[in-house]
Amino acid sequence: MTFEYAPAPESARVDIAPSYGLFIDGEFREASDGTAFPTVSPASEEVLADVARAGAEDVDAAVRAARAAFGPWSALPGTERAKYLFRIARLVQERSRELAVLETMDNGKPIRESRDTDLPQVAAHFFYYAGWADKLRHAGFGPDPRPVGVAGQVIPWNFPLLMLAWKVAPALAAGNTVVLKPAETTPLSALFFADICRQAQLPPGVVNIVTGDGRTGAELVAHPGIDKVAFTGSTEVGREIARTVAGTGKRLTLELGGKAANIVFDDAPLDQAVEGIVNGIFFNQGHVCCAGSRLLVQESVQEELLDALKRRMSTLRVGDPLDKNTDVGAINSAEQLARIRALAEAGEAEGAERWAPECELPSSGYWFAPTLFTGVTQAHRIAREEIFGPVLSVLTFRTPEEAVAKANNSPYGLSAGIWTEKGSRILWAASRLRAGVVWANTFNRFDPASPFGGYKESGYGREGGRHGLEAYLAGPDDRPGERHGEE
Ligand code: NAD
Repeated sequence: MTFEYAPAPESARVDIAPSYGLFIDGEFREASDGTAFPTVSPASEEVLADVARAGAEDVDAAVRAARAAFGPWSALPGTERAKYLFRIARLVQERSRELAVLETMDNGKPIRESRDTDLPQVAAHFFYYAGWADKLRHAGFGPDPRPVGVAGQVIPWNFPLLMLAWKVAPALAAGNTVVLKPAETTPLSALFFADICRQAQLPPGVVNIVTGDGRTGAELVAHPGIDKVAFTGSTEVGREIARTVAGTGKRLTLELGGKAANIVFDDAPLDQAVEGIVNGIFFNQGHVCCAGSRLLVQESVQEELLDALKRRMSTLRVGDPLDKNTDVGAINSAEQLARIRALAEAGEAEGAERWAPECELPSSGYWFAPTLFTGVTQAHRIAREEIFGPVLSVLTFRTPEEAVAKANNSPYGLSAGIWTEKGSRILWAASRLRAGVVWANTFNRFDPASPFGGYKESGYGREGGRHGLEAYLAGPDDRPGERHGEE
């Protein structure tokens, strides 16, 4: 689904204030202990703004505000909640130029991507779930579908506003209230979204934003006033959160890491496959949980495919994310750059062959050239671990059975891609791949109506579509509010 709006001019800038507060109970306020942290442009290393860091007292205030708002918000007729969500969706569209530029400045992703993918998808999610808000009673969720309560939502930095939309839109449509913690390197678009909530006259307390680092996230997840935790981020932190939540009666969904296989069979349309491979791993600098980071290519077409892929990689423009001609932007942080470098060095040390097109990288900021490793085996770290950067590991196979076995030989199971002309082979492979999403002859395609989520260490629960809504509805045995003395 796409929405029309004027493209951002190349010179577009956005007014960023020197400092931002937390958004609690409909108002912006400083952290109670006055602490703040800088958010930095990854393309230039300049400080964009100082942002309040929420401590335990602030998280408590936000959860209390969300609890107080829950009763009236959940009691509103669905048609009324839908009006707010439609209003938010339209405001996102109206302000999409400003938000796209802001997202690119704080995150480092190319403006073409934030303008043409992130922002249209953010608006689409609010439109989609607005449409659900008044239909819950007649959609097979039982005779009396009820919200879970207050949702504590923690999100990563790779799609800051889109991850917010994935979480906030279904929660609100189902009648929940939320406290959301954005990632520490990309807090700004969530705070601009808070302003949109005010513009939409959303009742105070329905959406609260607490900025901060992992400590703030941990405070939120552990707070007894939360009924549901929704987390997107690393498998490591996901495990920690699962331990915190265990035995508390809180509902939990986890969207974690991935190591997707993009499988190219010998009958695939190779030109199309090359475009899909490039999009699969270099879109958003490879900071994508479902990135096609393992290329599995059938031996007989390996040479032809890799030649074409290298030619295509040589045309990628790496540089200023605000330039609309840029294909690959900046790496989100110095820490992430160090992680990518370490894994690429491990690839070389373990004997894989490294190749990257010649490209001049800017002198300031965090950059990593699009990189390809051949001669990779299953034992190599670059074949097993999530790199979360623009690095593609190439493995080969001879038979379809071997392709599926190699694809499934991973602790993760988030997504996979298949490239072949044969419909029967698509169905055969898709039913055997242990991945939540399988794309055929395309990659990285999203729609708010499609559920998204993983198997194995990629997490559990689904976001998007009807499934995403279900995660925010109480089950027949749940008694929302009971844990808080509200029933
Ligand atoms: P991260 O786990 O380091 O951080 C994610 C969020 O959790 C941040 O807001 C962070 O501040 C917070 N956090 C950190 N420690 C915490 C704790 N102990 N308790 C509560 N919150 C805590 O991940 P990241 O580096 O920001 O994001 C990259 C990871 O996210 C990758 O592994 C990627 O695959 C994954 N991801 C998954 C999906 C998906 O839908 N499956 C989507 C996007 C990203």
